[in-house]
Amino acid sequence: MNSLRQWWSLPVDYGWNVAYARSQRALHITRILIGVFCWLYGTAAVITLSIPGLGDGSLGRWALWFTVATTVPVGLAWLIGGWPSRQMSIAFVFYADVVLAAVLLTTDGPSAVLPMAAMFTVMGSYVVGFHGPKLFTFHHVFAFAATAALYLSALVNDPERRLQTNLYLVMLILVMFSAPLICHCFLMLLRRDASGAFYDPLTGMQNRRGFDAAIGNLEVRSGSHAAVVAVVIDLDNFKAVNDQYGHEHGDTVIRLTASRILDAFPAPAVTVRLGGEEFAIVCLDGVDTVIDRSEELRIRLCDATDRSPLTASIGVAHTVIEARGIVRDVHVLLSRADRAMYRAKRIGGNRVTVYEDEEPSIHPVDERQ
Ligand code: GH3
Ligand code: MG
Ligand code: MG
Repeated sequence: MNSLRQWWSLPVDYGWNVAYARSQRALHITRILIGVFCWLYGTAAVITLSIPGLGDGSLGRWALWFTVATTVPVGLAWLIGGWPSRQMSIAFVFYADVVLAAVLLTTDGPSAVLPMAAMFTVMGSYVVGFHGPKLFTFHHVFAFAATAALYLSALVNDPERRLQTNLYLVMLILVMFSAPLICHCFLMLLRRDASGAFYDPLTGMQNRRGFDAAIGNLEVRSGSHAAVVAVVIDLDNFKAVNDQYGHEHGDTVIRLTASRILDAFPAPAVTVRLGGEEFAIVCLDGVDTVIDRSEELRIRLCDATDRSPLTASIGVAHTVIEARGIVRDVHVLLSRADRAMYRAKRIGGNRVTVYEDEEPSIHPVDERQ
């Protein structure tokens, strides 16, 4: 019971699943396959319409024609559009399940149509791949209810074919529930562990791998072009902290720095521990806002009441980049922010420097500090 409750409440982040598939370069091919599968659904409906005795009932014909007419644009949207948002993806599952159930339950000859209920498995695979336990349960309860109604209708309409109908039902239960259920459980466990590989164990912040996946996700939210700001932060003379207070205290300082950065730049800003005591932030806010917040962060990082007070050098770079190439372009932007950060360090550290064209310009240090 307890593990059932744990399974039900497992946090499945649709965005993370999409970002992971994108980072493995699997998203594009998945989109193409789904588009083609939509058209195959339409083709199955066309064939059913032409089988004498199957698509004869007027209600069934309407449902089949509706399938043909809608699978064309839906398939096209998958082939040439972007990856859908979570809401659109859930709507797609509802659409496919309801349309398939309508076709199965209104087409004449339920005992001949019954094996076609296996097509629910196709949508089941999509749900297993991208969604969590709740949609998985909805889809399977719905598929089971539609199949049970079809089975009963087949028994009533064709009592002499009872044995064959029972055989179909057993086969359908195996096809519709065995593989998807096993795959779903294994994928959920794998996902839970794999998501850990995207985070830095010391600070809980994203590591470079998680960062790349999260940047890919920014692409989903932004339009064709996005104004992006990158910030790179490196603590000044951190080696001295390790040398003077020990490595363990150094770790505490890194954790404290990470939590101050996360406070200053909460989500949807994307934050990363690049390594050692070097961090980066990428966000879609206005550059002036980001410079102000970087300045506030710099002040917050050199807190005189800390056990080992230190300072940080911060580099900022901004540009407008094409959303489709955001992962590649953000790395260029980060290297500019890095150059700005090194310039801040070269001229004494403890300041925010903004990269402007070839030469980073120095943002004046707040005189009150
Ligand atoms: P600079 O002002 O030039 O940045 O000087 P720095 O001493 O901060 O030099 P740098 O950034 O190159 O050195 C980073 C140091 O951080 C080197 C390494 O000993 C230490 N370090 C890297 N990772 C960790 C870690 O996970 N924990 C601790 N405690 N120290 C780390
Ligand atoms: Mg340093
Ligand atoms: Mg460093």
